[in-house]
Amino acid sequence: MTEESPVLYVVPTPLGHLGDMSQRAIDVLRQVAWVAAEDTRHSGPLLRHYGSNARLFAAHQHNEEAAAQQVIARLAEGESVALVVDAGTPAVSDPGARMVARVRAAGYRIVPLPGPCAAIVALSAAGLGDGHFLFCGFLPNKAGQRAEVLRGLAEQTCTLIFYEAPHRILDTVAGLLAAFGPTRTLVLARELTKLFESIHACQLGEAVDWLSADGNRQRGEFVLLVSGAQPQDNAVEGERVLKLLLAEGLPVSQASRLAHALTGVGRNALYQLALRLRS
Ligand code: SAM
Repeated sequence: MTEESPVLYVVPTPLGHLGDMSQRAIDVLRQVAWVAAEDTRHSGPLLRHYGSNARLFAAHQHNEEAAAQQVIARLAEGESVALVVDAGTPAVSDPGARMVARVRAAGYRIVPLPGPCAAIVALSAAGLGDGHFLFCGFLPNKAGQRAEVLRGLAEQTCTLIFYEAPHRILDTVAGLLAAFGPTRTLVLARELTKLFESIHACQLGEAVDWLSADGNRQRGEFVLLVSGAQPQDNAVEGERVLKLLLAEGLPVSQASRLAHALTGVGRNALYQLALRLRS
């Protein structure tokens, strides 16, 4: 199963349950000479658990460029390397993207393995939407920046996925409520694949009370999923903005282009509506 030429394997590792490592991922970790790991102290025992004797070196967000050069040097010597992070999939709210870009630019193949990713595991159990989603990762720490990012997401009609740590969970849920209002569905997916896994769905307006009712509900690692804005809300907003722009005397094409840019409603639909309104 190993490649003939040296490659960089991108290898997801379990979020908590050691049984979630794929057979292919185990085979790769046993066969490669080197593993680039976000935290070698964390990944060392994991590798030994899966029977890998690969040598480890650090590849974290503060040394990713240097680590990429180290990977390229190993590949140049004909040795394949595996990239792992502490838990889940590299490059998903974790280091990995720069490494992959540098290694590809140096002419080597990247071989990604499928595997655990908290966002996707949570999405599969959330029961939200029609499969369209936007992965937003961690929100900014500062309240003002966080509110600005959330305002920019308020009209998105797809499911929104966020990562959050326990010490910020209440603030973040309060921020989601302020930006999106009380009626959207929030799914709090906590400690996925671990002993205290819990997946709770409620309205955003109920979430702070639910979290505050029991301190245990705020513990552990979270994925937060919020149902998207209702498309008709968006369409109503599009029509409102379009009417304002037409009332200001803008030509049909310019008004529909601007209304599209401001609200995200389809440009052609707005153009047709603008023609009808003008006539
Ligand atoms: N690369 C990882 C992935 O593929 O999901 C994400 C790493 S990011 C540094 C860590 C965040 O992922 C946590 O703060 C939490 O939001 C989420 N996460 C990781 N493991 C989780 C779990 N078992 N249950 C819920 N969320 C988890």
